[in-house]
Amino acid sequence: MASKMHAAIDSNKIKINISMAESSDYESPLECEFCDAKVSFVNGFTREVGDKIISVNPYFRLKTRNTHGSECKYNVEGQVKLIVRESEGNVLTQTESGKFELRLLAVKKAINELQYLAKKKNKDETDDKKETKEKEYVKSGKKLGSYINSALRVLKVRSFCEKNTDIENLLELVFEGVRLPWKDFYYEDKDFFRCYSNIRKATVTVPVAIVGVVKSIRTIDGKNGKFSVINLAGPYRKTDEKDTLDSVSVSIWSPDIEMFESYKVDDVLLAFGIFDASGVSEKTNKSSTSSVKKFRNHDLRLWPISKSQLCKVNG
Ligand SMILES: [Zn+2]
Repeated sequence: MASKMHAAIDSNKIKINISMAESSDYESPLECEFCDAKVSFVNGFTREVGDKIISVNPYFRLKTRNTHGSECKYNVEGQVKLIVRESEGNVLTQTESGKFELRLLAVKKAINELQYLAKKKNKDETDDKKETKEKEYVKSGKKLGSYINSALRVLKVRSFCEKNTDIENLLELVFEGVRLPWKDFYYEDKDFFRCYSNIRKATVTVPVAIVGVVKSIRTIDGKNGKFSVINLAGPYRKTDEKDTLDSVSVSIWSPDIEMFESYKVDDVLLAFGIFDASGVSEKTNKSSTSSVKKFRNHDLRLWPISKSQLCKVNG
């Protein structure tokens, strides 16, 4: 179980940051800055996701057969325990076996209720009634937001881990009494096609978490006003036809054009909620020099109702 780390301590007890490690300005072995677990440095690198080149920042990782001390800030169990202690309602609980559970039905209900209240609030009413509804919405929003926020906090812990296995033995995902594997709930860009097909074939909608790199943030003029849209970089996939590629487009939409103002291109974004997957649509490739003439696009969309459904996970 291990988070990615941004600093370490060398054998002279000097704190080593990323830039010092990049110029090999340290004495081995390296240790965690909060406990005596051994760590190593991982260089930054770039990777291709669809038509975007993404840089992965350098970091320190736990060496194999090492674990962080129980009080260490990087101890995943300690972090999850703290979130469970601070969470409200029954979203996060500890089971009899001592494991923790994230109850996705409670989160889904919170999202649905908030959506219902937002719609009700926006209906034309006299000023008097409007004010009462606004108050009701803010009150419920606070409570429901705290449910969603607890879920988001544990997802943030996962996003700093390297793999699902770093968290899945500790935190179980439960929806209506059924245990859900992490791989069917938490998707990084390499998993976007699988996410799309899981959502398409699902008979019951379950909230999921998607982590990706922001490719663009735009304001679009729609028929009923302006929308703010974030697009995440998504991978391509070969098809049976030489000139055609499968693409997957994950986008996050809001009629509130200030909703995404704290985000920028290249941020790593965690988005959590109930995504829609619409049918595959064909698009011609605008680039005339490419041998790819067509994209078969798989569209995944989220309309978050609360800011607490999104957070930045890099840095
Ligand atoms: Zn540690």
